[in-house]
Amino acid sequence: MRRGSIWKRGRPDPLVALYAMDLTIVGCSGSFPGPDSASSCYLVEADGYRMVLDLGNGALGPLQRYIGLDQVDAVCISHLHADHCLDMCSYQVFRTYHPDGPLPSIPVFGPPDTVGRLDRAAGGEAPESMAAKFDFRTLTPGTIEIGPFSVTTRHMNHPVETFGFRISAGGTTLAYSADTGPTGELAELARDADLLLCEASFPETDGLPPNLHLTARQAGEYAGRAGAGELIVTHLVPWNSRDQVTADAASAFPGPVSLAVPGARVSL
Ligand SMILES: [Zn+2]
Ligand SMILES: [Zn+2]
Repeated sequence: MRRGSIWKRGRPDPLVALYAMDLTIVGCSGSFPGPDSASSCYLVEADGYRMVLDLGNGALGPLQRYIGLDQVDAVCISHLHADHCLDMCSYQVFRTYHPDGPLPSIPVFGPPDTVGRLDRAAGGEAPESMAAKFDFRTLTPGTIEIGPFSVTTRHMNHPVETFGFRISAGGTTLAYSADTGPTGELAELARDADLLLCEASFPETDGLPPNLHLTARQAGEYAGRAGAGELIVTHLVPWNSRDQVTADAASAFPGPVSLAVPGARVSL
């Protein structure tokens, strides 16, 4: 049952306890950081459990506005493009060299060979592979429990193996497209979700590359097909017009539509 969401900025307040799940937009810039946003990163919280969904380049800085970096309980990586995973390299430095000593390992869910990808990005395995610092767990399509969340993943349509996420807690559901071109899997992932957080990277034009990204109109269409209660459009590429993205998404989805904004908090 949809309860409706509220947008807020800044740190949580006691009212948050009335809601089952909180989403904070940490970074929503598509493909590369923009002047006002890091690349993809979302903080999802329920029952005091803090799960970071993607940790793209530039995101580790603003993440600290919302939680301490030692308060992350789990990380989920949708795919291994730099704008979704690269700040794991910096995050390992924080956890390894913390003044209180190395912090304990936390689970990191990602596609196959996430650790190899991150080790290469960090400059090789010396002095130590990230496997010694995080508890890497390989995603496959299906449903797993992460803290208080029931997390269902499906393959999206993108040049590298990419997982979309359906995250449920306390009777509410958030769906996240990650990066994807058109795919029926997205409509299933977001079926009757309270909120679909959906990428829209391409402008509405002819000759777009296939199997890569969505337009805002397509994001709206998938929200409608899924019966989602609300659409937040994200992965906003800095050179696209925000007004046009909003208009295109709203033209295809009759429900509430908004664009992701860094620092915005949604309570579901
Ligand atoms: Zn991306
Ligand atoms: Zn990508």
